[in-house]
Amino acid sequence: MINYNPKKKVECDIVVVGGGNAGLCAVLEAKDAGANVLLIEKAPKKLRGGNSRFSGGLFRVSWPEGNEDFEPLLEDSVLKQIELEVEPYSTNDFYNKVLDLSDGLANQVFTEIYVNKSLETMDWMKQQGVQWDIDRNHASQREGKVFCPAGVFLLLAKGDGEGLVEMLYTTVEKKGVEVFYETAAYSLIIDAEGKVCGLIAKDRNGFMQINAKSVILACGGFQADPKSRRQYLGENWDLVKVRGTRFNTGEGIKMCLDIGAQTDGHWGGCHASVVSEDSPMIEAAGAGSERYSYPYGIMVNRNGDRFVDEGMDFQVYTYAKFGKEILKQPGSVAFQIFDAKTIPLLRNDYKEAEKVESNSLEGLAEDLDINPEKFLKTITEYNNAVTDENSFASYKLDGMRTRGLNPDKTNWAQKIDTPPYQAFAVKCGLTMAYGGVKANEKAQVIDNSGHPIEGLYAIGELAGGFFYYNYPSGSGLTRGAVMGRVAAVDAVSKL
Ligand SMILES: Cc1cc2nc3c(=O)[nH]c(=O)nc-3n(C[C@H](O)[C@H](O)[C@H](O)COP(=O)(O)OP(=O)(O)OC[C@H]3O[C@@H](n4cnc5c(N)ncnc54)[C@H](O)[C@@H]3O)c2cc1C
Repeated sequence: MINYNPKKKVECDIVVVGGGNAGLCAVLEAKDAGANVLLIEKAPKKLRGGNSRFSGGLFRVSWPEGNEDFEPLLEDSVLKQIELEVEPYSTNDFYNKVLDLSDGLANQVFTEIYVNKSLETMDWMKQQGVQWDIDRNHASQREGKVFCPAGVFLLLAKGDGEGLVEMLYTTVEKKGVEVFYETAAYSLIIDAEGKVCGLIAKDRNGFMQINAKSVILACGGFQADPKSRRQYLGENWDLVKVRGTRFNTGEGIKMCLDIGAQTDGHWGGCHASVVSEDSPMIEAAGAGSERYSYPYGIMVNRNGDRFVDEGMDFQVYTYAKFGKEILKQPGSVAFQIFDAKTIPLLRNDYKEAEKVESNSLEGLAEDLDINPEKFLKTITEYNNAVTDENSFASYKLDGMRTRGLNPDKTNWAQKIDTPPYQAFAVKCGLTMAYGGVKANEKAQVIDNSGHPIEGLYAIGELAGGFFYYNYPSGSGLTRGAVMGRVAAVDAVSKL
């Protein structure tokens, strides 16, 4: 046991560790219930917000009544500009998608909680000053309206992730909650009965002791720590690009394990998507690095081979697992290929991006670090395999597919035959690790004997058991907001 010899002591009811989406929602819920709550955040003020700041600000929400549920979340001024058709998205469909993409492993109780509370929590966030916007990346034009397909179109925070955290911090500040920046939690304090009664934290001046009736840990996963990535995710993961904050290095999990907490979830698994080859090694998302338009083109490796069904499903259901497939390719790199028919469909992130462009496929191959003969053979075989069974429609699984390839492309498969051609080099970008600590339905951390550790809660990325293998986009922020409130309600009930 290290004696930290704190330079100062602080008293509060509840200390929340980590000021991302989950922590901020916990802070606001606890403050509104009258608790004396303190937030400590490892990052400096200008970098506050963790992965939530780097996120797209997209929340997956069940709106069983479509427009009727969705529209009250938005400001009238936003709704006036646009005519929407919001397809109803039931709680069952949301729940089943999470279970389905996790191969049935996602904790059913947790899933039920955040799915069922998703809509009411978004309304609560609106009351907390979050303004919602239209997710145009996942909507399409249909019959003169903006069509918002169920499970694909999500709820967007105004200003994306940065807007989200700044809106939440504005309310936190307005409500007079004290925030200690550049203050990292180091170690939990437990009493003789095994109850957590505070923690040791460190700022630039040294150690401080924070005495609290409850500690809510919301300080993220371990994905920004290369050693942990190598240890838990495996070979080559220490070398991947990390899309989010540099500050989530796993201390919250370690502090829990140090006092005998259980682990939970998919420790060898992670959310890893597709980013540009030239994006930075850390905080890659800050550079507009997402390369999510692959369903409209194909992806090939350096050998010139395709390696996934790019049109297997909507991007929101495939992007979190395709990063891992790219990491397995020679040189851990792949190339997204588009032609003149699909270039207009590319997202904004591609507009200023580094690319190779040519009026011939031979020219494209010459300029890419790729086996040219094999590349041309792949394109010819792909073009020959495109069927005319269906016609192209971006807003639905259109069934426009190839037949006879391994792997086939099963939706949005158009021939690549119209110059100019463009190629974008892409890599694996790690978003978050799925392994975390074990908690119960009240977000209380569970010890190695299966009992809740009184006074200790784990929320957001730090808690395991939510996601395995794959992930329906927008679920991370929703579960963080819901479980943040759940933890705060329980902690307040014990004051
Ligand atoms: C690029 C990117 C895009 C994403 N887009 C989306 C999206 O659109 N929708 C979605 O649902 N999910 C998205 N995600 C995932 C989502 O951002 C996370 O699941 C979610 O933000 C996690 O929230 P959190 O509050 O648990 O953690 P964070 O937001 O990461 O907050 C953790 C905080 O803890 C602080 N901290 C760390 N260690 C300590 C310590 N020892 N002491 C004190 N503080 C500490 C960190 O500085 C940080 O501020 C995205 C993630 C990334 C990286």
